Amino acid sequence: MRLGVSTAWRLAVAALTLSACGPRPGSGTSVSVPRTVADATSAGDWLGGDAQVSKPRVLALFELASRDPSASALIDDAARALAKGSREGLAALFTRCAADVEGSGEAGKTYLRWQTALLSKDHPTLLEGAPSAELTAKIRELSEVPRTLVTRVEDHPDYVVVRRGEVPTICLVAPMSTAAAYEAMIHELVHAQARQATDEAPDADAFATEDAYLTAVVLSPGDEVDAYVVASGARARLDGTNRNLIAALANKFDPAGRLLVGRDEIARVVLARRPWGLGYGDTGLRGAYARDKEMRAKLRASRRAFVEQLLAAKRQELSAMTANLGVRRHNLDARRQNLAIARARGDAAEAARLTKGIADDERALRELGRVTPLVRDGVTRLERELARLR
Ligand SMILES: [Zn+2]
Repeated sequence: MRLGVSTAWRLAVAALTLSACGPRPGSGTSVSVPRTVADATSAGDWLGGDAQVSKPRVLALFELASRDPSASALIDDAARALAKGSREGLAALFTRCAADVEGSGEAGKTYLRWQTALLSKDHPTLLEGAPSAELTAKIRELSEVPRTLVTRVEDHPDYVVVRRGEVPTICLVAPMSTAAAYEAMIHELVHAQARQATDEAPDADAFATEDAYLTAVVLSPGDEVDAYVVASGARARLDGTNRNLIAALANKFDPAGRLLVGRDEIARVVLARRPWGLGYGDTGLRGAYARDKEMRAKLRASRRAFVEQLLAAKRQELSAMTANLGVRRHNLDARRQNLAIARARGDAAEAARLTKGIADDERALRELGRVTPLVRDGVTRLERELARLR
């Protein structure tokens, strides 16, 4: 019951029609949750022999929470966060797990997808200090991609980083008992809902050891500790006993589903080897430390590539502007001299033409005078950023 996470970078430099795709880090980790002994031996199948998960089957699981106010509130919160408040809509996010998940002993899995796009700021945005209509439209376009749930915009001096979170999909396995499916449904909703609110997972580079990193991961909001605490509590309340909980967790809850130990202890159980623990340390989270470091290195390389491209584009733009500035000044001087000559000759038509040309040059020079320093400052800032990113 690990989260599947993937991130893609889309790089785009506005106004210069430069765009490139960055590397795409591998999909996130996944770990099985051991089914309880009771589930493994029970003859029940929550799908009643159906091949696929249908909305009525999921709604029936939701109904089991009707006498449990906290489980019921979780379902309603998830419906609000993920499906515009509709339990039907929430039920529609559930599917049956693929054969590889079913064969691995997992009870369910939540797939979350975040994408990151980098968009350069155009001149009006830089001049006004607020997103231009064009940049706003680009950001809106990203938020209108099908399945978008949230869009977050992070502001940088020369570009914006847009993070787009998709509506998650959740799979549950079959066959398993209805009570086990209920527990798995609650577990996955904790992941799906909380992870949409906090998309930042712990950064492996910030932890000196793999153990410290994995502990931080499972304790992070909406991760395994939260999911097991909430789902085990709900399962115990459903059954009226803690006896059907996963063996390694059963004595951590009282028969009413109240947690009897600290969250740190649950984290230890989640990571410990089976049968003492749930085995996350040697199954789906194995290699997660290295994978996270690798993914972050790829993301840094993408960011660096974007900043390099933007810097190259701005340098080119700056040199074009400098050349343009010289040409306009030269034209302006020539037109002013010619205007004096035309007036001396009494050539009114030529004088009018030159007067208009002079006004155009002056307008263009004013515009260049406003924009050139912005581009020059951008070059300086991006050079500094690139030095930091190397
Ligand atoms: Zn899980």
